[in-house]
Amino acid sequence: MDIVERINKLKEEKNAVILAHNYQPKEIQKIADFLGDSLELCIKAKETDADIIVFCGVDFMAESAKILNSDKKVLMPEIEGVQCPMAHQLPSEVIKKYREEYPDAPLVVYVNTTAETKAMADITCTSANADRVVNSLDADTVLFGPDNNLAYYVQKRTDKKIIPIPEGGGCYVHKKFTMDDLKRVKSKYPNAKVLIHPECSPELQENADYVLSTSGMVKAVLNSEDEEFIIGTEVGLINRIELELEKLGKTKKLIPLREDAICNEMKKITLEKVERCLLEERYEIKLDKEIIERAKNAIERMLEIK
Ligand code: SF4
Repeated sequence: MDIVERINKLKEEKNAVILAHNYQPKEIQKIADFLGDSLELCIKAKETDADIIVFCGVDFMAESAKILNSDKKVLMPEIEGVQCPMAHQLPSEVIKKYREEYPDAPLVVYVNTTAETKAMADITCTSANADRVVNSLDADTVLFGPDNNLAYYVQKRTDKKIIPIPEGGGCYVHKKFTMDDLKRVKSKYPNAKVLIHPECSPELQENADYVLSTSGMVKAVLNSEDEEFIIGTEVGLINRIELELEKLGKTKKLIPLREDAICNEMKKITLEKVERCLLEERYEIKLDKEIIERAKNAIERMLEIK
């Protein structure tokens, strides 16, 4: 048996399911039962009747799966170096400071945050629903963190006053992209449609054909008549779109805005680690009960918004 067959056998024996984020390496995407962005995986985690969830992604995603499935075993194939740096940019002391300054403003946090941060929020959001989440709130001023670029994206789509917290918060991968990158790639592929993730700078957002979450990008490419696309997000998404195109027997030209837009934390998972994870049932995500309850309210409130 090869490693993929062994993983599938273990999965069946243990009634396990593998959830993988769109930025995972190609070989991991291929063995996943469900592939998606944070919102899609949150929904899948809530719906699954598996006993074990193996989460191939970064720390906050596996935590979200645990928050929504406190009775299930949630495992990560790796625990070292899988901490999303942005998810740790809103610790409790920073939140307390802003809460004191804006006592009447609800706090919206990106799902790319730790369980502790979510537990202090009124509601969570993803890049696929951030504007809808903010528009659903009965308040004129909203605290929004930790991604300042996503806050800009939301500000453009709502009449509310958005206070981005903390200053300078954001994703190091998406901050790499510059207007020079766009000019360089666009001069080579002048007819390509430009898809930019809302974690990218305001300037890039303003110069995109579409500003979309990763799931939005997948749908845009699959449903479009266009043949060439410049992809302004982590390069792993190109594998995901190619897998979907393959299923439809189609090919399109997908050009990374930068070849080196790589999230190191997302690339720590390997097939060998997934197999070991299933065999030894480690590393298990454990969270405090009270944190789970409070964070769950913030996530479930988001999931109610259509
Ligand atoms: S791409 Fe950015 S936000 Fe996403 S996991 Fe990596 S560091 Fe975190």
